[in-house]
Amino acid sequence: MTNNLLRFIEIDQSYPNKREPNSRKNDFGEIYDDYSESAALNQASRCSQCGVPFCQIHCPLQNNIPDWLMMTAQGRLKEAYEISASTNNMPEICGRICPQDRLCEGNCVIENGFKSVTIGSVERYLTDNAFDNGWIKPVKILEERSQKVCIIGAGPGGLSAAEELRKLGYQVDVYDRYDRIGGLLIYGIPNFKLEKSIVERRASLLKESGINFYLNTEVGKDISFEQLRQDYDSILISTGVYEARDIALPGVGLSNIVPAMSYLTASNRVGLGDEVINFSNGKLNAYGKDVVVLGGGDTAMDCVRTATRQGARSVKCVYRRDRVNMPGSLREVNHAEEEGVEFIWLTTPEAYIGQKKIEAIRAANVRLGSSDSSGRQSPELVANSSHELKCDLAIKAFGFDPEDLKNSFDQPNLKLTGWGTLSIDFLSKMTSLNGVFAAGDIVRGASLVVWAIRDGRDAALQMHKYMQGLLLNREN
Ligand code: FAD
Ligand code: SF4
Ligand code: SF4
Repeated sequence: MTNNLLRFIEIDQSYPNKREPNSRKNDFGEIYDDYSESAALNQASRCSQCGVPFCQIHCPLQNNIPDWLMMTAQGRLKEAYEISASTNNMPEICGRICPQDRLCEGNCVIENGFKSVTIGSVERYLTDNAFDNGWIKPVKILEERSQKVCIIGAGPGGLSAAEELRKLGYQVDVYDRYDRIGGLLIYGIPNFKLEKSIVERRASLLKESGINFYLNTEVGKDISFEQLRQDYDSILISTGVYEARDIALPGVGLSNIVPAMSYLTASNRVGLGDEVINFSNGKLNAYGKDVVVLGGGDTAMDCVRTATRQGARSVKCVYRRDRVNMPGSLREVNHAEEEGVEFIWLTTPEAYIGQKKIEAIRAANVRLGSSDSSGRQSPELVANSSHELKCDLAIKAFGFDPEDLKNSFDQPNLKLTGWGTLSIDFLSKMTSLNGVFAAGDIVRGASLVVWAIRDGRDAALQMHKYMQGLLLNREN
């Protein structure tokens, strides 16, 4: 059966075709084309079927990668899809946006000197192909249960839990303050990484599976958390993290200094056909501007690449560490550089300068000193290095903190961690409130889609146990 495997010696690694920078920066379409069937089969056949598959160990979902690669190489695409979907509620999304260089592919141990198997691209192909062939059907319930669960937040964490609980026959209601399903998949991550039709396809499937969505409904404002506790047998909080971190700099009150999420949400909304006044009036639109993005994470990368596509005159990314020490994925930095973004490493902003609108950023050089607790070197200011960078749109991408849910949900007994995230029991995933569970960024802090899916699946299983009377009460 393995005669069409282990072909890494004869077949070179080949990702799906990446569109040329000059073509792709003129639109918001995804930058990678699709694999053809023969390309997917060939690339899957490079796998050497390791006895201890490090790819699988380093996938947060522990996807059964060697098995679905083997099925793919043998042309058994339906079975391959089924194995891949058995551990992942959104394989086509993970295949597109997981930082594979740090997860599965970065740990592929194909022989030294040969490049990794293109795991994410094969995973994406399998699910897109399954959709195209009509193999993916809404959840079919064998026996409906009368118990009702409430999920707060329709991001990947909440949606994965919703699907798993629906499969078990529960009545599932999902509440979200946004007007669309998907959380950051729809309003954070730009189209050129994840086209919105892919998210909408998933959302439709969940609706057809009998999951009820209450959109434009903010818990703590439009409906009280206490009311939900009375109405439901169990609750999952998967509200993500949205409080933008900031640095107090002189001149912060000038116009055209905007938070990254406002900027990206506006761009995504425009792409979805919404009318966004602050885009039309230029406030959240980079067209014709000298843009400076402050920060070095994946959100900053999404901002610089969005600004390029909106027709900015120039786009700079200012980050206080160097390329090696930045938190964002190197793959994303490479994409941005190909698209003409200028990276100004080892530089920190000191002040925003201008009359009413921002006109420049005063910045200073830094050097890297000793390592901090995370192992990264801490930046130290270089004396007399202040200089100005021309700027008429500054985008702040300093990261995100959680909202104070204790306060907004009016739940004094909801236990938080020192970082303000929700404190949960390691095994049961339950918060300090009985029957209330939590998953995703609101537990981990800003993380990854694949981890939110993992958390949503784990929480769903524990909620099921709780509703079957198999978990202990944590409240007393
Ligand atoms: P979210 O996706 O944030 O969803 C939470 C939902 O809860 C939202 O829909 C929100 O409206 C809703 N909500 C919040 N409060 C309430 C309330 N009180 N009542 C009702 N609803 C509420 N990860 C990757 O793996 N790859 C990437 O390429 C990537 N790119 C990213 C780019 C950006 C710009 C950002 C910001 C993040 C990116 N991430 C990426 C991280 C990833 O998007 C998150 O880790 C993931 O979406 C977390 O899922 P979640 O379900 O916990 O929360
Ligand atoms: Fe790799 Fe992400 Fe797929 Fe896991 S879910 S196999 S980490 S792309
Ligand atoms: Fe195949 Fe690489 Fe995983 Fe080994 S580590 S099983 S070669 S994908």
